[in-house]
Amino acid sequence: MSQPVLRFAPSPNGFLHLGHAFSALVTHDTARALGGRFLLRIEDIDVVRCRPEFESAIYEDLAWLGLSWEAPVRRQSQHFPAYEAAAERLKDAGLLYPCYASRREIADAVAAREAESGRPWPRDPDGAPVYPGVHRGPGGDERDRLEAEGLRPAWRLDMGRAVAVAGEGLSWRELDEDGSVSEVRADPLAWGDVVILRKDVPASYHLAVTLDDALQGVTHVTRGRDLFQATSVHRLLQRLLGLPEPLYRHHRLILGDDGRKLSKSRQDTALRALREAGRSPGEIRQMIGLGSSGISG
Ligand code: GLU
Repeated sequence: MSQPVLRFAPSPNGFLHLGHAFSALVTHDTARALGGRFLLRIEDIDVVRCRPEFESAIYEDLAWLGLSWEAPVRRQSQHFPAYEAAAERLKDAGLLYPCYASRREIADAVAAREAESGRPWPRDPDGAPVYPGVHRGPGGDERDRLEAEGLRPAWRLDMGRAVAVAGEGLSWRELDEDGSVSEVRADPLAWGDVVILRKDVPASYHLAVTLDDALQGVTHVTRGRDLFQATSVHRLLQRLLGLPEPLYRHHRLILGDDGRKLSKSRQDTALRALREAGRSPGEIRQMIGLGSSGISG
C-alpha cells in the first residue's frame, strides 16, 4: 500500500481557535501514527475575506503547537486555472449552467414559493434554502442581455443530471472513532444545484477541495463533523471527474461553553489569545481532550 497522505486545510479568514487546533493535531498525529505524510493547504479562494496576516498567523500558531508540515504549502488562490479547467470538463459534459441570480433574487424567489405553497422551501444540509431555479441556464438572447447589463454568472451543477450521469451506489468509507470503517450512502440531491464556479472567483469550496485532495494524493480526509454532509457533493465530483476516493474521518467538534461550534469571531478561544495568556501547547492538548498521542476523537 502506498504511503498515507493527510492534510489540514484551514482558510485564512480569521485566527485559528481550539477547534482548528483539534483538527490539525488529530490529523498530524494520525499521519504520524500511520507513518504517513502531513500536508498543510491554505484554502484562500475567498480573496476578499482571506488576508495575509491570517495566513502568517496559521504558520505561527501551528508551529507553536509543535506541528511541522511539508513545503511548499499549496495555496488555492494560486491555482484558479486548475479549478477552471476541471469546471470546463463538467461544462463540456453539459452538467453546469450559468446562473445570474443575485442573493436578493434567490431569497425573494424562496419567499414567493413559500407564500404560494404555505410550506417551508427545502433547506440544504447546512440549513440554506435549496436553489429555487431562478435562472436555470438562460438561452442565448437572454444571456447576451444579462451580460450586456454587466452581470457575470455563477456556474451551478445541474444536480439531477449529475446524479443520473454518476450512476447508482454513490457512497463513501467513513473511519469511525473506534477504528472501524463504515459505508455511508451519499445524498448529493439534498444539496440542490450547488455553485461550482462562483461569480467573484473561478472556483468554489466543493470543487477546489475535491480537486486538491486528488492532486495532492490525499488518502485520508480528516475534518470536522460539520463537513460530513458536504462529502456527498465531493464524492459526486470525484465520480464525475474520475478522481480517486479517499477514506474519510469526520471528527467531533470542539464546542464553546454555550454548546455551539466555535467561530473565528470569538476571541477567547483563539490560539494566539491562549498563548498570550500563558497557556502551553500541552495545556491546549488537554483542553481539547487529546493525550500526548492524540489519535482519539
Ligand atoms: N477550508 C475548510 C475550512 O476551513 C476545510 C476544508 C476541508 O477540510 O475539507 O473549514
